[in-house]
Amino acid sequence: MPQTITLRLLPREAADAKHYTALAARRLGIAEQQVALVRVVKRSIDARQRQPWVNLTLELYIDQESQPEPIHFDYPSVVGKSEVVVVGSGPAGLFAALRLIELGLKPILLERGREVSARKVDIACINRGGEVNPDSNYAFGEGGAGTFSDGKLFTRSKKRGDYNRALQTLVFHGANPEILYEAHPHIGTDKLPYIIRNICRTITACGGEVLFERRVTDFILRDGVMRGVVCGDERIEGAAVVLATGHSARDIYYKLHERGIRLEAKALAMGVRIEHPQALIDQIQYHQPERGEYLPAASYSLVSQEKGRGVYSFCMCPGGFIVPAMTDASQSVVNGMSPSGRTSPYANSGLVTEVRLSDFAFLEPQWGPLAGLKYQEMLEEAARREGGDGQVAPAQRVADFVAGRASRSLPATSYIPGITPSRLDRWMPNFMAEGLRMGLTTFGRRMRGFVTNEAIVAGVESRTSTPVRIPRDAETLMHPEVEGLFPTGEGAGYAGGIISAGLDGERIAEAVARYVKPR
Ligand SMILES: Cc1cc2nc3c(=O)[nH]c(=O)nc-3n(C[C@H](O)[C@H](O)[C@H](O)COP(=O)(O)OP(=O)(O)OC[C@H]3O[C@@H](n4cnc5c(N)ncnc54)[C@H](O)[C@@H]3O)c2cc1C
Repeated sequence: MPQTITLRLLPREAADAKHYTALAARRLGIAEQQVALVRVVKRSIDARQRQPWVNLTLELYIDQESQPEPIHFDYPSVVGKSEVVVVGSGPAGLFAALRLIELGLKPILLERGREVSARKVDIACINRGGEVNPDSNYAFGEGGAGTFSDGKLFTRSKKRGDYNRALQTLVFHGANPEILYEAHPHIGTDKLPYIIRNICRTITACGGEVLFERRVTDFILRDGVMRGVVCGDERIEGAAVVLATGHSARDIYYKLHERGIRLEAKALAMGVRIEHPQALIDQIQYHQPERGEYLPAASYSLVSQEKGRGVYSFCMCPGGFIVPAMTDASQSVVNGMSPSGRTSPYANSGLVTEVRLSDFAFLEPQWGPLAGLKYQEMLEEAARREGGDGQVAPAQRVADFVAGRASRSLPATSYIPGITPSRLDRWMPNFMAEGLRMGLTTFGRRMRGFVTNEAIVAGVESRTSTPVRIPRDAETLMHPEVEGLFPTGEGAGYAGGIISAGLDGERIAEAVARYVKPR
């Protein structure tokens, strides 16, 4: 058994493996030469006091003690096995496909978008203010919304075993093993495409199929049983259909509704992206004029209740960029990402308010369960009108927004298509503008300097969660009225991030295996 020890170190000491190994050996009363291997198993920063500390938990393998094996997964061949159609190659679809393979089923993975390298070209086009390809963008394409994302690997999942296994799956496919012990693991947008590619390679190497530029346009339903899908002229059938299309696939919700497949309206959260200079967030969080070379770009997580409504920060990207995450040129949608090194001079996060069913009840008579979707679209289109052409986003300085003043100019931003001054409260729903204003005032009291005109809020952060749930039976995990249809991931309303979508995908694959008899 390895010896476990926790050390509280200065950031400089925590970056020096020789230093902490020697210290750990001394504390354990052994000679440094006896340490055959030292593994960091947990690392977190405690910045509550003026001097930030790093808590490092180490495992020391001493003398001849057997050392941990590198992580390895055995994916069997599924050539000739029962076929399962998986729609969408986001984390839910990919993890579902991997688990189907482990369970002896052959996934046929259909993805509307292009593979990673072609997708990079489409994304560059959006950033330059060019066309938005409705099938290949920040949300659609190989790896789904998880590929050109931040890659924070946080989940509220209570099952640590499943969580660790999901992280190990990513490490097996090329992620840095540091994600296994960091308190807030993060991959970064520069590394994600490589990992996603490797997962797709595993699927095809085992005999599964990954087909790009296959947009599902309809479903093959016979006698209330889901038999497969239609992609333009092609009909693709399987023993079951896993629907992992994410929350931006509005055409899928419309099609399900049109085919009489029951959907449910769901509350969501919407708001803005807020961006500060990273140096300012570092100063506030580390209580020092500069963070120096040993501390990472600082982050924050803020929550408050304003007049009974939740207001919170979401998907914080230290050292990151604001990105245009629309799937259609008629919308303005912002989101955030950061590279693995978190090297940009900006810090951004989503700042959102709770949106309740009652807020869009006026759309219900016409749109039924799709009322929230329409409400989301209306806000995105309003932002687009305010921002203008070329994916320019409407924005306001933060102190001006809180004071209800127009900003005559705007500071520099990481958002490549650009920002233009706008009074956000003039076109946002009142409850949202008011909630954000009150929330910011509260956050400004907790983090002195947070409400400043050096920072901006830009609109709109509308794709935080789905406004529609695709119901499923608690036991079979199938749609309660459509046998063979297995909705999963964020778009179905059962996940809210890369890891939770991946874990839900695995869970759905296990349900599929119980339903389909392996050949
Ligand atoms: C910029 C950005 C940054 C983010 N950062 C983080 C982060 O740091 N950490 C985190 O946990 N989460 C982050 N997220 C959210 C995260 O990416 C999603 O929660 C996650 O990807 C959801 O997984 P999913 O598989 O359910 O759906 P998605 O990832 O949305 O995948 C759905 C897939 O289905 C495909 N599809 C849709 N319709 C069809 C169709 N008709 N036919 C065929 N294919 C179809 C899409 O092209 C897409 O590839 C970020 C999102 C964005 C946009």
